[in-house]
Amino acid sequence: MNDLVEKAVNFHGHLCPGLLIGVLASKYVLEHGNDFSLDEELAAIVENDNCSVDALQALLGTTFGKGNLIFRDYGKNNYTIFNRTNNKVMKLSVKARNFGQATLTREERLEQLLKSSPEEIFEITYSAEIPPEKAHIHESIKCDNCGEPTMSTRIRELREKRVCIPCYEKLNMGVFDIK
Ligand SMILES: [Zn+2]
Ligand SMILES: [Zn+2]
Repeated sequence: MNDLVEKAVNFHGHLCPGLLIGVLASKYVLEHGNDFSLDEELAAIVENDNCSVDALQALLGTTFGKGNLIFRDYGKNNYTIFNRTNNKVMKLSVKARNFGQATLTREERLEQLLKSSPEEIFEITYSAEIPPEKAHIHESIKCDNCGEPTMSTRIRELREKRVCIPCYEKLNMGVFDIK
């Protein structure tokens, strides 16, 4: 646990209860048939963008940049981990009783998490969901308005021009006229 906490703190910048939630989730994943993901062997779907996700990035190698970290903005502490090698899927959800502990100070909360096992913190279920698609590399197209190269899948059509999303939104609101 200590090595994992240290590695996560080095990445995240500070020690906090949220980070420890992510460390505990990662610890469980690493102890149950998974290794740090150098490429896209693992993929993670996370349902929040709080401190905990940094622990997954540091410890599991499921990162924003590699495209094997998928954020769904549901406001839940759920972590679904796909292993593309053995097709196992595990979902860790923070147990309801671990919320609303307003009586604990931050220090007490940290201490409590440091001595907890993942099983005490999470409801853990296995399923056979299909993993998310691997990251793709798309060609870039020059936006007809601002000229910036833009990933082809993010180009919008407007009055026979091909424009990026921010230009599309501005032009659509009629704020600016197309160049
Ligand atoms: Zn934090
Ligand atoms: Zn543009």
